[in-house]
Parts: sequence; structure tokens; C-alpha cells
Amino acid sequence: FVPNSASARDIAHHLHPYTNLKVHETEGPLVITGGKGVHVFDEDGKDYIEAMAGLWSVSLGFNEQRLVDAAIKQMKELPYYHTFTHKSHLPSIDLAEKLKSVAPVEMSKVIFQNSGSEANDTVVKLIWYFWNAQNKPEKKKIISRIKGYHGVTVASASLTGLPNNHRDFDLPIANILHADCPHYYRFGLEGESEEEFATRMADNLEKLILKEGPETVGAFIAEPIMGAGGVIVPPKTYFEKIQAVLKKYDVLFCADEVICGFWRTGNYWGSQTFGMKPDILSCAKALSSSYLPISAVMVNERVYQACVTESEKIGVFGHGYTYSGHPVAAAVALETLKIYEERDIGAHVGKVGPLLQKGIAGFASHPLIGEVRGTGLIGAMEMVQDKKTRAAFDPKLGVGAKFAKIAQKNGLIVRAIGDSVAFCPPLIITEQEMGDMLSRYAKSLDEVAAQLKA
Ligand code: PLP
Repeated sequence: FVPNSASARDIAHHLHPYTNLKVHETEGPLVITGGKGVHVFDEDGKDYIEAMAGLWSVSLGFNEQRLVDAAIKQMKELPYYHTFTHKSHLPSIDLAEKLKSVAPVEMSKVIFQNSGSEANDTVVKLIWYFWNAQNKPEKKKIISRIKGYHGVTVASASLTGLPNNHRDFDLPIANILHADCPHYYRFGLEGESEEEFATRMADNLEKLILKEGPETVGAFIAEPIMGAGGVIVPPKTYFEKIQAVLKKYDVLFCADEVICGFWRTGNYWGSQTFGMKPDILSCAKALSSSYLPISAVMVNERVYQACVTESEKIGVFGHGYTYSGHPVAAAVALETLKIYEERDIGAHVGKVGPLLQKGIAGFASHPLIGEVRGTGLIGAMEMVQDKKTRAAFDPKLGVGAKFAKIAQKNGLIVRAIGDSVAFCPPLIITEQEMGDMLSRYAKSLDEVAAQLKA
């Protein structure tokens, strides 16, 4: 690396999250310096289609001036105030009111944080508050799912069902359990229909609850589509059957809408796409198009009343952050939600989402592709060694990582999750950009196939 270049300085000074550090030391970073629409540019001016919208999040693309203006306006008016001890400010009030008005089910209150992880930590505490208020403090166990992703703080990493988030950290913490991953392609049995698979998943959940004792199980948390676990779309009838089990044993239902919220799956919420009726809902990312960090948790009246009861007992609602509902982040989020409405982003996703799904379905016959999955503007293609037996490649080959690298060379930023390649472009992607994205994908796939043959 050129001494004193951005890459050299990055390697010298910057410890990167979610990065293979040894590889990073020799290969260095891709340094992004600007963006326009669905494109980003590196230091040399090379252009990339950002097919992951950053981290599943930059819904309005990389140069939305209205969000910049909203931030500047709020910065000038009131750059900071907090929401502790009966204080408030207009952006957080407006945003709470707005979020309630678009919620997938009737919600009572909204509490703010700065990230998806913090939102889900908040969810954990709310669940515990709830059962304490019901005088059932033993109902503390929370069930999430293998391959579910809910963040990296100690409690949310415990909810996350991926080994990398547990190893070395003594996680999960007590009272967190993991149910089956509902990936039909990988875990469906021979001859089992998608609906039968969903029934089995729900039966297994019921068995888990009975084994633990229903009096000890307080909540179940799920993403509508598992994102970081590999874009795993629930099998037909899954959430209907899961919710019936939860109801039977009086278990709260929490939806993690951090990726799926704000039109990603074709509806405002993934909960609407999959018939989920959560008691608690967390969201982040596209809430502000990620221009500033902000997340939110919505709770129904039952959960809110439990918070009131507990805060009366101890004198305070014992949770919150310095930046809960930060006015500048809240103002940017409000403007984001306004833009979704004014530009009818839902209708746009209704138009371009099917193009993505049709486009990736076209690769299903490629010899390398085992499964194509997705809905709305989120999808993935899984590469396999043997299409017929669905046998995966030896992980040591790093086929997914190879793909991501070749794609980057071809001006396409995707996310490799094992050997699955995920797509989650900004919601504003046009028909033409979609075509461009898919042709860069096709070129990269052929190059990977050729490399694997060689
Ligand atoms: N929940 C889901 C579904 C996510 O995809 C993520 C992040 O990707 C999180 C929670 C954690 O969010 P953050 O990285 O903002 O802490």
C-alpha cells in the first residue's frame, strides 16, 4: 500500500467490525468516498452498484438531499436534547406519533434507541418487565431461532442464533433458547410439503415450550425474513402456526423488523407480508435510510401498562440511552417516512420487486445455483456443489467470499453469507439499474463457475 494512503492508514489504525482481520491486513479496505442513487464510488472514482444498500439499510440511496436538509434544519433549531426525566422535544414526539400511525397492529407507545442491537436489548428488558408486572417473574425465557440475527450487544447477541456471535463470549446468556431455523430448502424432509414443514416447525416449538415448562417461557422473537442468516423466507403457513402455539401458552410475540420494515418485503412491514401480529416490534436501518443512527421499539397497550406498573414499583422506567430519540436523527427519520409516502415508495417496490424476483429466478437453472429465494426487494441465491443432492461446497473453498470479490471487481457490491449471495438494493432502484445489477451478477457468476472448473 502507498504509505500514508487511506488504505495504509486504515490498516494501521482501524479495527473493523465483522471483518476477517488477517485478510484485511494484507488486502486492505475498499474505501468509499461518495455515492449517488444506488451507486457508490471509491477513491479512484470506480463505480459500484450497492446491491445491499450498505447494510440492508440505505433505502433512499446515497444522495437524498432532503435528508441532509432535514438534519441541518434540526441541528440549527435544537441539536440535542434528551428524553429522560419527563423531558421531551418535538422530533421525538412527532416520530413516535407517526410510527404508531403506520404500525402493522395497534400499538400504544414508542421508545427510541440508536441501533438494532439496542432496540432488541430493549425488547428483552420489556419482556422481563412485562412478566414481572404480571407477577410471573419465572416466565423469563425468550425463544429466538437458529440463524436469526438480532444484533451483537450481550443480550441481542444471545438472541442471535449464529455461532460466531456466541463463541468466545460465553453466550447466550441464561434464559435465551433457540428454536429451529425454518429453511425449507435445507431442512425440509424428503417428500415433506412446505406446509407440512411449517407444521413440524410449530410442533417442535410447542415441544420446546413444554420441555422448558410454559410457565417459564415469556416470549418468542423473529424476523419476518431472516436477513443476515441468509435471506431465509418463512415457509407457507409458518407464522400462522407459530402464533397459534404462542397464543396457546401465553407467550409474547416480538417482530424484529430491523431489515424488513419500511417496504422491504413489498408491504410497509414484513409483519404484514407474513401475517404476523406482534406485541412488540423493533425497527431501525431504513427508519432513517441510515443517514443517522436511530431505532425504535413499539409496544402494545398491554406491554405498556406493564411498564407503568413496574416503574411505579421502583420509581422509574429503568432503561434508556443518552441519545434515545436524538432530535436530529428523529428529524431525519421523520423526513424519511415523509418521502416514502410522498413518492409512494410502496407502489415503486410493487413495480421493481417483481423484477428482482423474476431476475434472480432466471438463475435457478444455472449449474451453480441450488436455491433462489426472496420477496419484494430482498433476495438471495445459494450456490451449491451439487444441485441434485443440494450438497454444499467445502467451506474452506470460500465460494461465497470468492463471488463477492469477483462481483466487486465487476462493480457490484453484494453480501456473501456462506455460499449464499444476498441482494437488498436501495428501494429507489430503477428498472434499468435492476437490469444492470443482474447483468453484473451474471458476469460474476460465470467467472466464479470458470474459476471453480479450473
Ligand atoms: N436485527 C436485525 C434483523 C438485523 O439485521 C440487525 C443488523 O443487521 C440488527 C438487528 C442489529 O442492528 P445493528 O447492527 O444496528 O445493531
